[in-house]
Amino acid sequence: MKDILDRVIKSDQPESKDIIVMLKACGEDQKALLSSARLIKNKSLGNKVYFRGLIEFSNICSKDCLYCGIRKGNFFIDRYNISDQDIINAAGFARANNYASIVLQSGEIFSPVFTRRIENLLKKIHKATDGSLRITLSLGEQDKETYIRWFNSGAHRYLLRIETSNPDLYVRIHPQDDLHNFDKRLQSLYHLKSIGYQTGTGVMIGLPGQTYEDLANDILFMKTFEIDMVGMGPYIEHSDTPLFNSNNSLNLQQRFSLTLNMIAVLRIVMPKINIAAATALQAIDKMGREKAILAGANVIMPNITPGIYRDSYSLYNNKPCTDENADDCINCLDARIKMTGSEIGYGEWGDSIFFIDKSSSC
Ligand code: SAM
Ligand code: SF4
Repeated sequence: MKDILDRVIKSDQPESKDIIVMLKACGEDQKALLSSARLIKNKSLGNKVYFRGLIEFSNICSKDCLYCGIRKGNFFIDRYNISDQDIINAAGFARANNYASIVLQSGEIFSPVFTRRIENLLKKIHKATDGSLRITLSLGEQDKETYIRWFNSGAHRYLLRIETSNPDLYVRIHPQDDLHNFDKRLQSLYHLKSIGYQTGTGVMIGLPGQTYEDLANDILFMKTFEIDMVGMGPYIEHSDTPLFNSNNSLNLQQRFSLTLNMIAVLRIVMPKINIAAATALQAIDKMGREKAILAGANVIMPNITPGIYRDSYSLYNNKPCTDENADDCINCLDARIKMTGSEIGYGEWGDSIFFIDKSSSC
């Protein structure tokens, strides 16, 4: 492992075969991989962890991704759409608790009414919080004009997971129609980057039929794309989705361990990007996000959605924190993050240093 680590750390173009060995690491090799990633994170970014208050403001979605519990075709969940005022209140909560950043996430809706709503909402949030918050959007695929309008209204980060960089696997986990098109998703990422967003992506780890080679290519895709932020986590089945009964060669613990390795390899390959510790990790292991911090992640997204809606944003089985209100989450998180030896960047935006370096060099 040491030779491979040395080679990958020094290389500008790491080889897929080396990454695969790193992804398969277990036991002492895994310990060496994770601690090397942690060291690189501390050297490149310091030991700070930044909070992004996550507001899952609506579970209404026009799409039918085969893995997702809030897909349009799931008739077993109550649909909700939180009012603008409640979203602004949640943003106020983030500000009051010194989070400095929020993420607005929902199912995917592409319509003039939705575009206008988000545009107005962004302005209202900035007004209500005196422009103190950095806002990330995670609202799926939109056309370039919509992304520009939202950027001009004050959203400067966007998260759009590519889900997998393998177009064949993408086809197997989505309905085959124009609404679920790999090239369109990729194009959306290029639009976001060209507009000037801090652009984030990610993948699900442990999808049925996914190979180590796929995951190594995901890492190389992120590097070649020069992504600024990444949020990736384990795929977890939802019982009311078509993918539920698919054979999976990895159990949940194996997907968890593989996710830590993915985070560590990505940190080694892209030392200065922001990497989030995905909530899905916590569904498998109560200390999942803290372990991700120890593997090189530097961002946590505490859920600050008003408690009554949380059960209905059920992307996968056993989604954590659905029965807590926002305050409970703060108190436990603060102590748990400090236990990892990290400092919390309260009141700081924590922008991607990779993005800042790129912007200042051109
Ligand atoms: N609708 C937007 C989109 O798809 O980009 C944003 C919200 S969507 C719920 C956010 C992410 O949830 C997706 O990108 C996907 O990776 C993740 N997700 C959905 N179902 C999942 C599952 N069963 N296990 C793990 N992650 C899942
Ligand atoms: Fe909708 Fe996003 Fe879920 Fe796909 S992953 S069904 S777009 S919420």
